[in-house]
Amino acid sequence: MSQHNDPVASPYLAPTDGSFTLADMPTRATDAPSNSALKKQLEDAVQDIAERQRMLYAHNRFSLLLVFQAMDAAGKDSTIRKVLSGVNPAGCHVSSFKRPSSTELDHDFLWRTTCKLPERGRIGVFNRSHYEEVLVVRVHPGILDAQQLPHTPDLDTLWAHRLRSIADQERHLADNGTVILKFFLNVSREEQRKRFIDRLEVARKRWKFEPNDVRERGYWSQYMHAYEQAIRATSKPWAPWYAIPADDKPAMRFLVADIVRRTMDALPLAYPSVADEDRELYDTLLKQLKSEG
Ligand code: ATP
Ligand code: MG
Repeated sequence: MSQHNDPVASPYLAPTDGSFTLADMPTRATDAPSNSALKKQLEDAVQDIAERQRMLYAHNRFSLLLVFQAMDAAGKDSTIRKVLSGVNPAGCHVSSFKRPSSTELDHDFLWRTTCKLPERGRIGVFNRSHYEEVLVVRVHPGILDAQQLPHTPDLDTLWAHRLRSIADQERHLADNGTVILKFFLNVSREEQRKRFIDRLEVARKRWKFEPNDVRERGYWSQYMHAYEQAIRATSKPWAPWYAIPADDKPAMRFLVADIVRRTMDALPLAYPSVADEDRELYDTLLKQLKSEG
């Protein structure tokens, strides 16, 4: 039997029975607190996460893995920055996964993300992740040519195998103390268009603009299909996906922070207690230190 808790409830939780349908999910939150309340609630959630992270670290049994996937300009970077802004940097590690290097291509597709999994007591954040292997690679299967696969089954079988490998690995990790939360920041195509225009028009944002991102927009429906298939196959009670509405950035950040906070709240975390046999020694040392003063 596995040791996981049920995922925290949210209207954006992808069903864990394989029935996820992206079309059911809004890209704009309707239930977030109003603007004035939102700022305060987000700050509270960020502080709560920081506090629970201290306990996670001291307890040193669980680790927390936060996976972020999204279309370009959905706000992955700024969400990660905000949600983790209160956390002790020593207890948290953000890994960004770009196009694989030749060393990475010399390994199986789960290798590079496995190397970056959080240690016990730590929070690991994946900015993109192993899911790219069933997202961008599924949309552009030509990428497989560089992967030196020993055999090439038909593509439908390949995606099914990859999704099974991902689900199996996540189950294994969850059974061994990694708490996994996966966020799909669900931005609409129209909102992405506005953000790209903004990046081109505002000089200090232009460095963020990538001509290739506009080309990828052309594959929107293929990406949405790949996301839907991936989330359907891998949203599990021990590794849930949340499809967070991303058209309103402040609301999105709050929704993510609140899910992280509530998930940490449900963990049986505790500061380690002093063993009975050590207590006497500690009392003696305390007396000694006080008498030196
Ligand atoms: P930002 O644009 O905010 O800096 P980003 O995550 O979009 O962040 P980029 O360097 O722009 O970073 O893009 C990374 C690219 O690498 C994306 O297009 C992504 O799809 C691609 N990528 C990530 N993993 C893989 C993979 N396993 N195989 C092929 N391409 C990948
Ligand atoms: Mg990019």
